[in-house]
Amino acid sequence: MGMEKTDTVVVGGGQAGVAMSEHLGALGIPHLVLERHRIAERWRSERWDSLVANGPAWHDRFPGMTFPCGPDDFPDKDSVADYFVAYAKQINAPLRTGVEVTRVSRLDGRRGFRVETSDGEIEARHVVAATGPFQRPVIPPIIPADAPVFQMHSNSYHNPGQLLEGGVLVVGAGSSGVQIAEELMTAGRDVYLSVGPHDRPPRSYRGRDFVWWLGVLGKWNADTPAPGTDHVTIAVSGADGGKTVDMRKLAHRGMTLVGMTAGYENGTLRFAPDLRENILNGDANYLSVLDEADAYVAANGLDLPEEPEARVIPGDPDCVSTPIRALDLARQGITTVLWATGYAVDYGWLKADTFDDKGRPLHQRGVSREAGIYFVGLPWQTRRGSSFIWGVWHDAKFIADQIAIQRGYMEYHADAAKMTADA
Ligand SMILES: Cc1cc2nc3c(=O)[nH]c(=O)nc-3n(C[C@H](O)[C@H](O)[C@H](O)COP(=O)(O)OP(=O)(O)OC[C@H]3O[C@@H](n4cnc5c(N)ncnc54)[C@H](O)[C@@H]3O)c2cc1C
Repeated sequence: MGMEKTDTVVVGGGQAGVAMSEHLGALGIPHLVLERHRIAERWRSERWDSLVANGPAWHDRFPGMTFPCGPDDFPDKDSVADYFVAYAKQINAPLRTGVEVTRVSRLDGRRGFRVETSDGEIEARHVVAATGPFQRPVIPPIIPADAPVFQMHSNSYHNPGQLLEGGVLVVGAGSSGVQIAEELMTAGRDVYLSVGPHDRPPRSYRGRDFVWWLGVLGKWNADTPAPGTDHVTIAVSGADGGKTVDMRKLAHRGMTLVGMTAGYENGTLRFAPDLRENILNGDANYLSVLDEADAYVAANGLDLPEEPEARVIPGDPDCVSTPIRALDLARQGITTVLWATGYAVDYGWLKADTFDDKGRPLHQRGVSREAGIYFVGLPWQTRRGSSFIWGVWHDAKFIADQIAIQRGYMEYHADAAKMTADA
């Protein structure tokens, strides 16, 4: 039996893979989506139990389907996964689950790729890597693995009961770190939170959710930061119906804030002297969104209720005014260090000449340097929104168009082109 053939293989059946399938299908491009586990697996098994979407259901979705909950609700993680299962069904996506792509390599002497999978080989003209913006958890090499403290990544955190008795240091104050730290504190743990640079837009202002403000102010479309520019994490939360992330309020409730985690020696962690600066920069970001929102309301004559109380920033808690610079973990009863420090990518399966020396994709808006290979769902692929649910749908449309354009070139026939031009 000959090798199975299709035009485009999409690797990964998360939201990016489903979006790709919708757009490829709409353009009539034969394709297959291969997912090693289940549809939207990361929403099922690589997120903590209580996670809800960071954006309300009316926004964090694809255009073709609404969530069954109310538009202003924040769907829980399993409802998000269910949504993509239902979406794949609605568009009749040719999606195979339980099929891992182990290697993709260029065919010798002819166009296309050999896609090796756990279920046989497929030949494809184009390959779209949709394996996620957040693939491999990253723990900075600060505390040796044999140190007497349990270390884990937010990726494998599920609930407070999973942790050893005792205090917890959460490193990283993006959306994951802040939400997990609050959950642990609410569960009665003694919690320290190591805070780096972060943006923290208001959850809502003048009656509109931040996703609306970021949309009308053009911030979801913000350009990809220049190479070498530091990435600033965004701290937002849909927990408890959605609320603004405010580190000071968490500290006033009992959490101890510390600066960036800088080093470890003999059971003691050291922190950079940057806590107050990071908190102040977070405030400045928050206030700048309010300023831009007010200016937008004025410029467009919108009738949105004023909200002066949103500008009230609580006073500095002690841990901010006199920050702790070193922490003896055992003495403070800290038994777990939970790293909410982000992710890297891993394209070991993709044998293509389109990666930098750190293994990161080299591409322009998802079009790789190697003809026929595309990426979708990368952080900042085209804009801030690229790795988020609504953003990936638009990037996938662009990539499907690029594949259609290449197919058009390959179908070019001089006589037919002349007849069209003469007509
Ligand atoms: C904690 C957290 C909360 C988030 N909350 C939100 C939110 O509220 N709203 C929002 O818009 N975004 C949110 N995001 C961002 C983003 O929506 C998610 O990261 C989302 O999972 C990305 O979808 P994806 O399809 O691009 O990648 P993934 O969900 O990572 O899907 C990639 C798929 O590829 C599969 N795969 C990988 N390698 C192979 C292979 N070799 N062969 C076959 N299959 C393979 C994986 O099993 C996986 O299912 C959140 C991210 C995190 C980490």
